[in-house]
Amino acid sequence: MAKNNMQNQREHLLKISQQLVQLGLNKGTSGNASVRFGDGFLVTPSGMPIEQMTADSMVNMQFDGSYELQAKSIAKKPSSEWRFHRDILAHRPEINAVIHTHSMFATTLACLHKDIPPFHYMIAVAGGGNIRCAPYALFGSQLLSNYALTALTDRKACLLANHGMIALGNDLDDALAVTVEVENLCEEYWRILQVNSNPPLLSEAEMREVFEQFKGYGQWAIK
Ligand code: 13P
Ligand code: ZN
Repeated sequence: MAKNNMQNQREHLLKISQQLVQLGLNKGTSGNASVRFGDGFLVTPSGMPIEQMTADSMVNMQFDGSYELQAKSIAKKPSSEWRFHRDILAHRPEINAVIHTHSMFATTLACLHKDIPPFHYMIAVAGGGNIRCAPYALFGSQLLSNYALTALTDRKACLLANHGMIALGNDLDDALAVTVEVENLCEEYWRILQVNSNPPLLSEAEMREVFEQFKGYGQWAIK
């Protein structure tokens, strides 16, 4: 019998969470992920190592913050960061998946409170000519969510000061691709800063050209 949509989404969220660990982007119980589902969303459980996570541990939340547990023996509560997952999905109708990591290079730059400027054309993957760093706020707080939402204006990624990064996607695979690219950009930028604290940047006109070029890039553009 075909699996229902809810079960598919639970399994997809588990697979993405496992990939984040396999790719070295998350370690231990750091980071979390969510995907829009029905009138609410599914979010990873709080403080659970990846080896213990199953599709049933994913928590089904509503936008008012209420939630249902699939199996109480597996998960007791949703990610402590459910507020920013909720607020991003509520305010960004084009976004259906949210990933948060403490990946090495994004976190390094976030601890320096650095916005990432257009040092490389691939910055366009995050939706604009820079990736902003949101001010510091306590993990799990509404203030952190407010800061993150502002830093994500017209963007698919931001850094969180003294914490990590958030990446968004129109689905979970897209959000993972943005996460991987943002981490890569952060590693490149960190390396560049070792050599030159004021590297040459692309101009606004050059970035506009990049966005135009991306419209025809990739397999999807070929009819
Ligand atoms: P959770 O385990 O509650 O998702 O928290 C991890 C984290 O990264 C908090 O910012
Ligand atoms: Zn975190």
